[in-house]
Amino acid sequence: MSFWNQAVTVNGTIKTEDLGVTYIHEHLMVKPQLPDASYEAYTLDEEDKSRAEVAAFAAVGGKTIVEMTPIHYGRNLPALQRMARATRTNIICTTGYHKELFLPPWFSTKSEEELYEIVMNEIVCGMDGTDVHPGVIKFGTSYGKITDQEERAIRVVARAHKKTGIPISTHCDKGTMGIEQAKRLDALGVDLRHVLLCHIDSALDVTYAKKLCQMGVHICFDHVGRELENHDATRVQMLAELIDAGYLNQLHISGDMGKKEYLLAYGGGPGLPYILTDLKKELLNYMDEAAFHRMMVRNPANFLTGRV
Ligand SMILES: [Zn+2]
Repeated sequence: MSFWNQAVTVNGTIKTEDLGVTYIHEHLMVKPQLPDASYEAYTLDEEDKSRAEVAAFAAVGGKTIVEMTPIHYGRNLPALQRMARATRTNIICTTGYHKELFLPPWFSTKSEEELYEIVMNEIVCGMDGTDVHPGVIKFGTSYGKITDQEERAIRVVARAHKKTGIPISTHCDKGTMGIEQAKRLDALGVDLRHVLLCHIDSALDVTYAKKLCQMGVHICFDHVGRELENHDATRVQMLAELIDAGYLNQLHISGDMGKKEYLLAYGGGPGLPYILTDLKKELLNYMDEAAFHRMMVRNPANFLTGRV
């Protein structure tokens, strides 16, 4: 649960100031529950490799990772607990549901009350048979649409958030449906300052990103590191423009590197250190160190501990 000055990690509650440099949307242990072989690329199930990646993140100053693998997406909480201890980092995990493609087969058969109880049970009693409690609640929507099942997940997540105060972090497929998500949550009585919309940079549309900030949500740039030939120039420009427009306090940067080809330890790249090394260097051509620190430390800390 989220309280002032505290954040909930897989190894218990810590003080806000111990969160440090935070990646707000990553995957460390994940296994999409679909038979399709194409999802093999999204499977990260080798604990030693994932641990090595986290160690590389810690070696360049990283302190906290929010692991966004929700219910029925191959979460592995004991592995995350061990990994956090071994690397002296904080890992925060999530409850809630993914977009429709990845929803559990039982999702559509349960009532909203039952779906709500499942999430509340994870929050109150612990997740997957452990005593690990979630630090965020997730829902997702599909590309360019919100399906009926996703509408149900939104209502369930909004209700659990209002009951507990735990912040909401969402999957916007290729950056789409952010405005619709925010409108739904607002109509359900959620204070949008407790909402983080992820993958917004994928839409590559700064006007859209500004509109979301205007609505009051936090937004996450988490598809950095895919266009290394131009050093993420488009995203860097977008961030600079959003800061100029006065939205610095609502911006987050993460890698969403939930794929073997992005992680050094699995033989890919650029790897978790990228944001704190090469990307940072690029960003500092357009902003000062304080602005970078704000996005990597203070904004995540405020979001995770429910400060507004
Ligand atoms: Zn993700």
